[in-house]
Amino acid sequence: MYVIINKKRCMLMCIPVLAAGLIIGSLLSIIPGEKTFGYGSGKILKVVIDAGHGGPDGGAVGINDTVEAEINLEIAKKLETVLNGKGIDTVMTRTDNEGLRAQNSDGWRKTEDMRMRLQMIKKSDADFFISIHMNHFRQSSVHGLRLFYASNHEEIKPLAENMQKKMSEITGAKVSTVSAADKRLFLMKSPPMPAILAECGFLSNAAEEKNLADEEYQAKLAWAIAEAVEAHFMGDEQPSSES
Ligand SMILES: [Zn+2]
Repeated sequence: MYVIINKKRCMLMCIPVLAAGLIIGSLLSIIPGEKTFGYGSGKILKVVIDAGHGGPDGGAVGINDTVEAEINLEIAKKLETVLNGKGIDTVMTRTDNEGLRAQNSDGWRKTEDMRMRLQMIKKSDADFFISIHMNHFRQSSVHGLRLFYASNHEEIKPLAENMQKKMSEITGAKVSTVSAADKRLFLMKSPPMPAILAECGFLSNAAEEKNLADEEYQAKLAWAIAEAVEAHFMGDEQPSSES
């Protein structure tokens, strides 16, 4: 069907509509929580991914000798791939199983490694920081997810809750209360951007250790984390039922 449009009338009708659209668009861009990143926003979301531990510091060791640092890196790499696929920029604090050390240092030191990670996080000018870890407890029956957020960025708690929900939905892992990170955790003490530390499961639980060492299970966790990040920063985040 052809529609004959009167040019003059169209101009008169279109200008107010366009103007209203521009005003609404600019208002949305200054309201916190509205779409700030992604298609149409002109801004690309940047995420720092930290694979916990590395080098001589292997982190927790599973009851069947799974090394935390290695699993952390596997999930971090998968997360990087999924986020990049969504058009999200990433910065990795480490990309291999060596720890971080300065070029002129004579050996690896935990304090130097942590300081270098913090420097990378500060320099990154990223919008969000996630640290991947595995848990360990003396009672082997304890299992499930534990997510923490940096207490100087309380506004990120809903993302931590949604992230845990998505991780649990896809893997079946048990959920627990999302809480503020202990200030003794160096990178979570007062990060310059919102930050979440995800303990993806307990290596001290045989069944969970087996899952965490499985490539497909790792991919599911990475996918769930990426989906939650995308929903929070670039789309519609469903309010979590957890208070
Ligand atoms: Zn750890």
